[in-house]
Parts: sequence; structure tokens; C-alpha cells
Amino acid sequence: MKLILLGPPGAGKGTQAKMLTEKFSIPQISTGDILRAAVKAGTTMGLKAKEFMDAGGLVPDEVVVGIVRDRLQEVDCENGFILDGFPRTVAQADALQVSLQKMDKELDHVISLDVDAEALVERLTGRRTCKDCGRGYHISFDPSKVEGVCDVCSSELIQRDDDREDTIRKRLQVYASQTEPLINYYRETGVLIELDGMQQIKLVQEQILARLQAS
Ligand code: ADP
Ligand code: AMP
Repeated sequence: MKLILLGPPGAGKGTQAKMLTEKFSIPQISTGDILRAAVKAGTTMGLKAKEFMDAGGLVPDEVVVGIVRDRLQEVDCENGFILDGFPRTVAQADALQVSLQKMDKELDHVISLDVDAEALVERLTGRRTCKDCGRGYHISFDPSKVEGVCDVCSSELIQRDDDREDTIRKRLQVYASQTEPLINYYRETGVLIELDGMQQIKLVQEQILARLQAS
């Protein structure tokens, strides 16, 4: 199963990707997670990427395209993968097509999650993430059992630097101008599954599975 999860920041891509990873035993490839790991490790690429990320902008296409091209060659992607947060521009989508063609692979589905802008702001300002295992939570919609502590590994939950309201608004603008056109891009190729991402996490999950099983 070769999937893309498409949608604005806060749509629930990471939340649903975690479920799909377990269900289909295929890796979640989150370019945001890979970039944050590079920032944490202090690599040259990470330091450069941080400037764009802190400003709510996109990291240059050539950087993320290179990251994904290399990641898709790894052995755990042989049976499929879930791309989460990539592609984010038409140039990235074109580059992905080229990479997949070279590997003699094709996308199965692109799942697009639609969520209202105000709901996105509420989701992102309340998002918390485990600093060790990366499990995501929401202070109201998906809280941990003990406040500030991960249910899975008991580590501390942190708030992302770019989940501040001013940066969130900028990220939503960037999404509308650079990434939203990909909905039409994939609609034209016939692989798009469009879902209402405003529903509860569990319902979105059930609908994704139902649509994947039906096709
Ligand atoms: P993305 O990966 O698309 O940026 P996340 O999966 O990290 O988004 O979700 C953003 C926040 O919204 C998280 O705090 C998550 O717990 C919460 N969330 C995800 N899906 C839903 C949903 N269907 N309803 C309410 N909150 C949600
Ligand atoms: P995310 O975790 O998907 O919300 O991504 C966090 C930030 O990482 C984004 O706001 C961008 O700055 C950067 N980023 C992640 N994925 C991409 C991508 N495919 N293209 C460009 N920048 C990206």
C-alpha cells in the first residue's frame, strides 16, 4: 500500500498515519519529523531548515525531495509507505512521480482530509507531542491520561515551536497557496480519496479504512 496523506497543518495526518502504520505494517514517512530530527541533531541541513520552519514557511523543494528520494530506497518501504506532509508543492509531487517511476512503483491512494481553518488553529494550539516516542495528543480532543506525560512511554509531552498562533496562521496561508493545488493535481490522476476531517479521530479512521478496503 503506497499512500499519501494530504491536508493542512493540523488536519490529522500524523494521527491517522500512526494508525495506518500499525494496521498495514508500513512506515510513516513524515518530512516534518525527519526535519525536526535534523534540527535536533544540529546538522547543517537541520540548521538551514530551522529558519524556514520557525518562520512557518516551506523548506526548499530540493532539500525535501532529496530526503524522500533516499528514504523511499530503504528496505522497509518495499511493501509500501505512508507519506505524511510530503508532497507540499507541485514541484515535489512531480519529483515524487519521477522517483516512483524509476523504482517501478505507483501510488495507490492519496487521502485528503478537509478541516475548517478555525478548527485547525484550535487543534494546533492544543497539540502536544511526546518528546521521546513522538505520539501525538490534544489537550482537549485526545488528552493523555496524566497531564503532560506520555501514555506509551511516560516521557514528557512538549509543544512544538511552530504551534504558536502567529506561526500557525502563516503555515495555513502557505498551505492554501502552495499545497492546496495538489488536491486537483491528484484528483486528475484518479487516486484521490476525499474525507471530512472535521469528524472525531475514530470516525475519520473508520472511514479511511472503509475507503481503502472498498478500492
Ligand atoms: P497533522 O499531522 O495533519 O499536522 P496531527 O495529526 O498532528 O495533524 O493533529 C493535530 C492535532 O489535532 C493533534 O493534537 C491531534 O491530537 C488533534 N486531532 C487530530 N485529528 C483530530 C480530529 N479528527 N478531531 C479533533 N482533534 C484531532
Ligand atoms: P509538519 O510536521 O508536517 O507540520 O511540518 C513542519 C514544518 O516542516 C513545515 O511547516 C515546513 O517548514 C517543514 N516541512 C515539512 N514537510 C515539508 C515539505 N514537504 N516541504 C517543505 N517543507 C516541509
